[in-house]
Amino acid sequence: MLTRRLTLAGALALGLALPLAIPAAAQETRIPVVASFSILGDFVKQVGGDRVDVTTLVGANGDAHVFQPAPADAKKVAAAQIVFVNGLGFEGWIDRLVKASGTKAEIVVATTGITPRAMAEEDAPGAADAHDHDHDKKHDHAGHEHGGVDPHAWQSVANAQIYVANIRDALIAADPAGAATYAANAGAYAAKLQALDAEVKAGVAAIPAERRRIITSHDAFGYFGAAYGVEFIAPQGVSTESEASAKDVARIIRQIKAEKIPAVFMENISDPRLVKRIATETKAKIGGELFSDALSDDKGPASTYIDMMKNNVAQLSSALSS
Ligand code: ZN
Repeated sequence: MLTRRLTLAGALALGLALPLAIPAAAQETRIPVVASFSILGDFVKQVGGDRVDVTTLVGANGDAHVFQPAPADAKKVAAAQIVFVNGLGFEGWIDRLVKASGTKAEIVVATTGITPRAMAEEDAPGAADAHDHDHDKKHDHAGHEHGGVDPHAWQSVANAQIYVANIRDALIAADPAGAATYAANAGAYAAKLQALDAEVKAGVAAIPAERRRIITSHDAFGYFGAAYGVEFIAPQGVSTESEASAKDVARIIRQIKAEKIPAVFMENISDPRLVKRIATETKAKIGGELFSDALSDDKGPASTYIDMMKNNVAQLSSALSS
């Protein structure tokens, strides 16, 4: 393999025309970058456009919390010039993967500058009641490496704007020749995100305030809830690594019954059995599927971030409006 490459390089140096020569422009100008998961990968594609070649580690409908990198992932990281990660404890496996890969890539934390959200207790309306329970929950998770920080920052569109600005700056630093392109792409996408933010706000505003309370399997919508005024209650914590305890599930079932919470939602990355069981035991309706930590595949309703947010709002509206 090595010999062949040297031969090819030698031939090119001599200016020989090779029948197998690949159109050089397309290959050489694209910057190889890795994004740790699909939502971040979409942001990088929007900003990078034709100048970057984006590889995503955790793909469509994948769960980054419990991802186990394979040797192929180390190769992808090794070949990258930039590795974009979410940070905030989302990719517990990334440091080891980066080290194992031996990559020289710049590691860019896309959430830099975002105010991290602590776990549920302080921003949930009616949190006073749940306070003791939340303490119990914290005990269950004590010593857990995720600490109290919620990694799902992309669920607020205002935060998505920060991801995009960070990605733009990192791409410009790595590829100054593309600065104007990256700035233009980021600007155009930021305008779309601004329109999306208004659409999400309008969609939620149309849902009667007292009905904006739902159950999901893991606590992935804290930033969405804080930004748009929907209360999400989840038997699982901010990571899917630990299963919901029987006590947490029993508490939520009591809460749904007592507070008449209208709907429970499945998530694309989580086993639907727990929410289905909760729905059966409480007679709450199953509101459909929300996309929390990953996009859908190309045929699904959420193959881009913008479609994902639109889909989630449409699901919430149809389940909660009447
Ligand atoms: Zn999650």
